[in-house]
Amino acid sequence: MFAPASAYGRARPDASHVEVVFTKACYAATMSEANHPARKPKICIIFGTRPEAIKMFPLVHALRRIDHIETRVAVTAQHRALLDQVLDIADITPDIDLDLMTAGQSLDALSARILTQLGAALDVEKPDRVVVHGDTLTTMMASLAAYFRQIPVAHVEAGLRSGNIYAPWPEEVNRRVTGQIADLHFAPTKAAADALIAENVPKAAIHITGNTVIDALLATQAHIAANPSLASGLDELASRFAGKKIILVTSHRRENFGDGMAAIARAIARIAQRDDVAVIFPVHPNPAVRPVMEEMLAGYANVALIDPLDYPHFVRLLSMATLILTDSGGVQEEAPALGKPVLVMRNTTERPEGVAAGTARLVGTDEDGIVTGIFTLLDDKAAYAAMASAHNPFGDGTAAQKIARILADVHQHAR
Ligand code: UDP
Repeated sequence: MFAPASAYGRARPDASHVEVVFTKACYAATMSEANHPARKPKICIIFGTRPEAIKMFPLVHALRRIDHIETRVAVTAQHRALLDQVLDIADITPDIDLDLMTAGQSLDALSARILTQLGAALDVEKPDRVVVHGDTLTTMMASLAAYFRQIPVAHVEAGLRSGNIYAPWPEEVNRRVTGQIADLHFAPTKAAADALIAENVPKAAIHITGNTVIDALLATQAHIAANPSLASGLDELASRFAGKKIILVTSHRRENFGDGMAAIARAIARIAQRDDVAVIFPVHPNPAVRPVMEEMLAGYANVALIDPLDYPHFVRLLSMATLILTDSGGVQEEAPALGKPVLVMRNTTERPEGVAAGTARLVGTDEDGIVTGIFTLLDDKAAYAAMASAHNPFGDGTAAQKIARILADVHQHAR
């Protein structure tokens, strides 16, 4: 309890006035510290989907190593099962779990739930800063909820732009809105930083850090090397397809639902006519993806349609693959770090660095384009070698450390 100033004054009747005032102030400060130790700046990291969790777990770990920061993790669980796989592997128990996923969730209903429930959580938590990642609905709504409370927002993987608000949809707008709110922008590459500068973001607010996905990939590879049982669930497929060139396929983009998915399935069926290849396809659970693939591809002995893999298994599959066919964003960044050519089933990409560096090629979702792209890489050794040996432009595995250091410097004290 605080001693009332008058009581303290009475206890030192012989002290001079100046001394009494000075001593009172010191006493009050000491008692205040004893009863309310200086509050650490509180940083709340918010995410909701598998790719965000993969790219944010290195930052959660890096921030938790910094003593003067209190790190909190809030998840919306916009994608429940896929998110939980990553949280388990990364050994992260969220401090706040809103568990917002519902079957057949519409973008607007989900946005409203995220905004109101995260807002309520922020009212209780009162963090000094919110950190979001990338371009999901969770990213945009967390930024808005923080903005409504005048809590500063840091954006990790800032500055990716396709220039088309419908591709990828709705991610391009999610990240643009977040970019308007954020006061700290962690751009993975110079191109991303340049895109922010072109939108009048002050240069001092932008930090080029590399992409944290490379940190996640390298850390996971090291874990698998130390403990191969983390990814041993692929042993059976590895021996079944021994001697074949493995093509890893992933596809889940909304823009590709419908005709695009059907064309992708037909292309895979044509590729699977070859004896020298095997296709391994962890199929996204979305109902716009799985039934299409099962109907078209179930009968092929050299096509394995498997459930989505946890991250260590996926990292092992990336290493096993000869080449990768994907419409994913994160996979475009990971594959070049392992020297694997990537054919991207999109017409535009917000990751042009891969195309410029020669590690990735856009093949769209045209059936012939996909088949030709794959056959060229399978049959033309020089074309394959050129893509496989190109430089990885997405980072060196130190992005999370850099970001944590900057946040720690900005937040020496609580607000
Ligand atoms: N991934 C995974 N298991 C899978 C497929 C993908 O762990 O079965 C990882 C992959 O390594 C990458 C991330 O999920 O880091 C990409 O997620 P997704 O393609 O769903 O989203 P995007 O990157 O396009 O936002």
